[in-house]
Amino acid sequence: MFQKLHLYLTAMCAGITAAIMIVMSLCYLYISEKGLYDNQYASFQNDINTIATSLEQQSVISMEWLAKMESRGNYSFFVLDNGIPFLYNRLGGFSERSATKALLDQCLNTYKSSFEYEMINTDKESNFGLYNTSLHTEFPFNPTGAKHEFYASVIELNRNDSSLQMVVLCALDFLEEQIHRQRIRFVVIDIAAVLILTLFSFFFTGRLLQPIIENRRNQTAFIAAASHELRTPLSVILSAADCCRNADAPEREGFLDTIRQEGTLMSSLINDMLTLSNSDNHNFPIRPRDVELDTLLMNTYEAFEPLARKHSLTLRVTLPDDTVPVCTADDERISQVLSILVHNAISYTPAGGKIELSLLYKKNRFHLIVSDTGIGIADEDKKRIFDRFYRAEKSRSTKGHFGLGLSIASEIVRLHHGTITVSDRPGGGSIFTVTLP
Ligand code: ADP
Repeated sequence: MFQKLHLYLTAMCAGITAAIMIVMSLCYLYISEKGLYDNQYASFQNDINTIATSLEQQSVISMEWLAKMESRGNYSFFVLDNGIPFLYNRLGGFSERSATKALLDQCLNTYKSSFEYEMINTDKESNFGLYNTSLHTEFPFNPTGAKHEFYASVIELNRNDSSLQMVVLCALDFLEEQIHRQRIRFVVIDIAAVLILTLFSFFFTGRLLQPIIENRRNQTAFIAAASHELRTPLSVILSAADCCRNADAPEREGFLDTIRQEGTLMSSLINDMLTLSNSDNHNFPIRPRDVELDTLLMNTYEAFEPLARKHSLTLRVTLPDDTVPVCTADDERISQVLSILVHNAISYTPAGGKIELSLLYKKNRFHLIVSDTGIGIADEDKKRIFDRFYRAEKSRSTKGHFGLGLSIASEIVRLHHGTITVSDRPGGGSIFTVTLP
């Protein structure tokens, strides 16, 4: 399921970014190509201005001059006397005369249909016949059947009552080639960028999904562990209920006691699981108020002292000599943490051992310490005892311990923005320290 989601997210992430990138590339290409055409057109117009000026100053148009002009740009020149072509270019690259003629005719037709009327009715009437002068018109020319576009200019020359027309064509094949190369470069860059983006999206979405996968794995492990823990008391209850049917009165009492005991265990396990589930759903309210931690510690001592004595353990409490300031915390939750720690200490300390509860106030921090002379915790277990349902191997037989106590304690402390740590007690045993701000 997550693999499918991972691929879907990768495709979506890469697709959207690639689409944005491609649209931006296309915009850039459009602007750049338009700029290239505009520049070329402006340079063509400039050249035609220069050519027209030099034509005005020449008495004879020589082949050498034409050849020189042609070599300046990618130009082809055609000269027409009173509309009749008499001089074809030599350098324009049109090998076939008929093809050249057809091209010229098309160009003149375009010029006539679009511009000549205008010229005759405006500038031509006022200027022509009076001065040795020229008029020229530039226009984009896209001949039918040609491989590429042209810029064309028709220069009208009036000289001593005779009129000359010069048609200049600028083939845009080199510009189109340049644009073609630019497009290929962009396609290659875009493909490479899309590939890199896809790889990046794959790793990025993978990392994004990691906590969700982890969470799901934890949930599955939690359900498996919870079912396992519930199965044992449940099967004891069921078999005790079966035995109850055929048992006589005193025996039945015993079975009913077992059912009650296991039922109580199941209820406490379910309560623990609900507490953790509420905490996961941010439904674990903390009601902070001013709490005297020394009083809280004394209350815990009084609550557990009889149980400690029953297990032949000595429970002591040590409080600071100076008055401890009040702490802002949820007293019921902090009591729950202390109960979990003291209960564990009693459970994992052999008879004759000592358990000490102490309170320290240092650098604006409260330290609640529960130390015992018990079995201690191996270093490899220390990292895991706050995990849900984790129990160190040697404490597995302890009945009523499901491995949820410390998880609940650490959740409560976390919600108080505090820390809970465990360390070895010199001489054996463990020290649990809860630090609250
Ligand atoms: P449990 O209900 O099993 O005690 P906890 O979450 O409270 O679950 O504790 C997890 C494990 O940490 C215990 O199973 C035990 O192995 C270890 N542990 C906790 N407190 C102590 C202690 N005071 N001394 C030794 N081991 C402890």
